[in-house]
Amino acid sequence: MGTIQTLPGTRDILPEEIGYWQYVESIATQILSRAMYYEIRPPIFEQTSLFERGIGEATDVVGKEMYTFTDRGDRSLTLRPEGTAGVVRAYLQNNLYAVGGVQRLWYCGPMFRYERPQAGRQRQFHQIGLELIGTADPRADVEAIALGTDILKTLGLQSLKLDINSVGDRKDRQNYREALVNYFLPYKEELDPDSQDRLERNPLRILDSKAKRTKEINQNAPNILQYLGDTSKKHFDQVQQLLTDLGIEYNINPCLVRGLDYYTHTAFEMISDDLGAQATVCGGGRYDGLVEELGGNSTPAVGWAIGMERLIILLKQLQASPQMTPDLYLVSRGEAAEAQGLILAQKLRAEGLTVELDMSGSAFAKQFKRADRSGAIACLVLGEEEAANKTLQLKWLQTKEQQAMTQTDLFNQVGELKEQLNRHKRTMSNSTE
Ligand code: ATP
Ligand code: MG
Repeated sequence: MGTIQTLPGTRDILPEEIGYWQYVESIATQILSRAMYYEIRPPIFEQTSLFERGIGEATDVVGKEMYTFTDRGDRSLTLRPEGTAGVVRAYLQNNLYAVGGVQRLWYCGPMFRYERPQAGRQRQFHQIGLELIGTADPRADVEAIALGTDILKTLGLQSLKLDINSVGDRKDRQNYREALVNYFLPYKEELDPDSQDRLERNPLRILDSKAKRTKEINQNAPNILQYLGDTSKKHFDQVQQLLTDLGIEYNINPCLVRGLDYYTHTAFEMISDDLGAQATVCGGGRYDGLVEELGGNSTPAVGWAIGMERLIILLKQLQASPQMTPDLYLVSRGEAAEAQGLILAQKLRAEGLTVELDMSGSAFAKQFKRADRSGAIACLVLGEEEAANKTLQLKWLQTKEQQAMTQTDLFNQVGELKEQLNRHKRTMSNSTE
């Protein structure tokens, strides 16, 4: 019998790669906290009806990508395919609107969609998402966009392009929808099958098609910006002005649409040239109708989601995975020394030092080799003699200098030891720059 393997479209995030993930999460936490966004952690599975209502049955996600199953209690559950519906449910269920003012929320975690696995497209993938609920102010759209841009720029992704569009309000879109259907009907037979299907259910999404002939037909389709009413036009103008004021470059893409009724006004995407077909790293927009759709009072909101796998594909092109390195590597041999070594390691960790304990029991020479490889700055050595006298050797791995001291002295002088370690770290990083 062979070993059990992961399912298609899922993968392990291994230690060699985890540094990227932790780095991305720490930068996101830092940038979003500075703008007073709180993290929220809704459950990973929810009632199926939440996503049917919150994403829309006419979408690909609900139509053919959801992981839906019946549990032992005969409930229909779905593994969340995206984060917004769950966040809005939590907002309503926990009366977060009662807090007053706006709610600034973000989340991070796995999402599940039954799609064809390929580079940048998995069945379990991860998103970082932001939701700003409770304001229709164009500054909210721009704060959301600016924070997404900040995260990606801080991570070193300088060359992403920002596409924006406005899908107007409900009324604008009704008019536009009619014009679109009238335009597409004569071409019906030439559209790709998905788009033919969308003609009745969700015609705006035809503009999103990647099929060659449909793309050609799209070129002369009516432009949504010509269907915006005064309010929508004003909102979109303000968004553009504020982006310009912030020095954020953008491109208006009238084909960038979200087809459902609760999407309103601004839609945007951040796109990379270095990702091949799966080029969108961040997608978002305003969804003024969603809270009401899920049973709340009419509440405007805006948000986005970043696909972490795609982001990390880009990060890998820029830098090696951040690795952990110990300050100290603890080498010991002999029963008493090994027991003392474990205690010393724990005490030093409690002092805030990073300590790797060699547990191999192998010869000193082998342990020293591993110490060198670990990237540690110094080594603590405990042999039989040291154990008997409650002493140890402190060996600096770069200079090979070695000093003997009692274990008590090590802790009495731990502040000084930390300073020495920091000095070594600084000279090491200077010499690699
Ligand atoms: P796409 O057009 O690539 O399918 P989408 O419109 O379905 O994207 P959203 O629902 O807007 O995507 O999700 C936001 C982001 O999450 C995407 O821009 C992408 O970076 C990421 N993402 C979406 N689906 C997947 C997936 N199956 N695997 C990996 N990342 C994904
Ligand atoms: Mg998709």
